[in-house]
Amino acid sequence: SKGTVSILGLGAMGSAVAARLRETGYATTVWNRTAAKTEPHVQAGAQAAATITEAIEAGDIVIAVLLDHASIHQNLEPVAAELKGKVLVNVTTTTPNESRATAAWAAEHGITYLDGAIMAVPGMIGQPGARLLYSGDENAFGIARPALETLGTAEYEGADAGLASLKDMALLASMYQMFGGFLHAVAMMRTVGVPAADTANEVTGWLAAILPAMQGYAPLVDSGAYDPAPGQDVAFTRPALASIIAASREQGVGADFLEPLKKRLDELAATGRDTADWVSVIEQLTIR
Ligand code: NDP
Repeated sequence: SKGTVSILGLGAMGSAVAARLRETGYATTVWNRTAAKTEPHVQAGAQAAATITEAIEAGDIVIAVLLDHASIHQNLEPVAAELKGKVLVNVTTTTPNESRATAAWAAEHGITYLDGAIMAVPGMIGQPGARLLYSGDENAFGIARPALETLGTAEYEGADAGLASLKDMALLASMYQMFGGFLHAVAMMRTVGVPAADTANEVTGWLAAILPAMQGYAPLVDSGAYDPAPGQDVAFTRPALASIIAASREQGVGADFLEPLKKRLDELAATGRDTADWVSVIEQLTIR
């Protein structure tokens, strides 16, 4: 056999993880707070553990897929002794500092700890395109890697246990703001009866065309050489955003998602930075 893996948590994601490991030849033991969720897994050949302790004892590798940081600590702290000497992979979504706190706790208890972040929905687990990020103990990554590779591309980010969560949250920050922009566009266009599906096509095409600009912004941000602007400056971009906000309001649509960006550009203008490139607004994000 390929080895034994215990999966703690059989929600939508934990179930997908457990199923994939089982299907790829791992002996799996599953535990879930609500025990009934283990039944379909047992039907398919997994072992069910009655207690979390039993689950941990059954696996060389323990993968935790609970809800959040609080549920991780609530459930794992009482079984720290049982986890000693095991490889614990926690793919529960947490903030970077929560991941670091769990890593520090694990180190205190002799637990080999790897933190993870899943860049996929449950249906993508084990499918092309699924990408999982890991950080923390490199030895743990080495040990767990063959099992983790069955779930999706396994990428090791570094020894700082917060790195996987950090990249996860950064990518999600960009995603939600992009989709927020899409919803803003839909809200505007539906005021004249355009169905969301049509606007989805328009936005998809527009974003695809404009996306390469990001690679041009990157060296600008890295160098900090914003002024004079190689691209659109603050003086140009402020009225451009003002027009979008005005057009939204004319149609009875709030520009709530966009207005904070305009406010930050207003701050740049108020401090005499009209000729700086508008992407210098990134410097306004640093909390001092
Ligand atoms: P679900 O809500 O489907 O499942 C949550 C799981 O956590 C259940 O097994 C639940 O047990 C368990 N749980 C919650 N609170 C506790 C607790 N206090 N003690 C013990 N067990 C607890 O969530 P998902 O499976 O979708 O998500 C799991 C993790 O994966 C989350 O951190 C999520 O952010 C992450 N993730 C999910 C993605 C997705 O698309 N679904 C994508 C990427 C990451 P019970 O059955 O008893 O309620």
